[in-house]
Amino acid sequence: MNFKVLTLFPEMFDNFLKASVIGKAIENKLINVELINIRDFSENKHKSVDDTSYGGGPGMVMTPQPLKDSIEFIKKNNSKVIFLSPKGEKLTQKKVNSLVLEEDLILLCGHYEGIDQRIIDKYVDEEISIGDYVLTGGEIGAMVLIDSIGRLVKDVIGDENSFKEDSHYNGLLDYPHYTKPQIFDETKVPDVLISGNHKKINEWRENQSILQTYKKRPDMIKKILNDSSTEKNFSEKIKKVIKNNL
Ligand code: SAM
Repeated sequence: MNFKVLTLFPEMFDNFLKASVIGKAIENKLINVELINIRDFSENKHKSVDDTSYGGGPGMVMTPQPLKDSIEFIKKNNSKVIFLSPKGEKLTQKKVNSLVLEEDLILLCGHYEGIDQRIIDKYVDEEISIGDYVLTGGEIGAMVLIDSIGRLVKDVIGDENSFKEDSHYNGLLDYPHYTKPQIFDETKVPDVLISGNHKKINEWRENQSILQTYKKRPDMIKKILNDSSTEKNFSEKIKKVIKNNL
């Protein structure tokens, strides 16, 4: 999986690309991240990349020439161009699961008031927002995409089941986790987790996952129950667990 990031601030990625799971994935060549400085493509003698907005108003807009040239320089037939934007489709795990099937993602990071609309119209395949709030630039959004997609790439996380049990993967939140010591601050971990009975442990975890979701994100339960593609057994199980624990 290739990520190509078009940015005015490549230095923002320095630590992110070296640390933790993503750092290891790059080291092991499971994912590849290329940083391209849009400013390097500016034909302007001052290497400027922004200008005032036609029609007036505050703030600067990223000019089309360096954007066009940098996109054309790195774009391949199999590339998908994503513009990080608060006006885009809000990112979900479902979207992340579909983006991991791509081979070459170009992540275009805006700054200032954003980028010239003609670039969006001509080159951008998708606009993605990481939430209903405004950031100063698209770089943090690009890191969110690299992290959330990168961890799903084969062999990046050793045990595939680990991400399949994570929150949002199957529409529910994760169950609670406990580690050693068994008693901490006079509070014991739930007995079932030290029972050694794996059938009971799995059942407890499944129930907790449903109950946590019901308490914290009732909208997610509603969505599963209203979704016609949800398997009947799954929705019956959810209803039963909620009813028995009310
Ligand atoms: N004027 C724009 C608007 O109101 O829609 C906001 C521009 S913002 C200050 C500068 C850049 O940050 C955007 O072009 C985009 O690349 C990025 N950005 C801001 N908020 C974002 C979000 N929620 N998700 C993804 N990218 C975001």
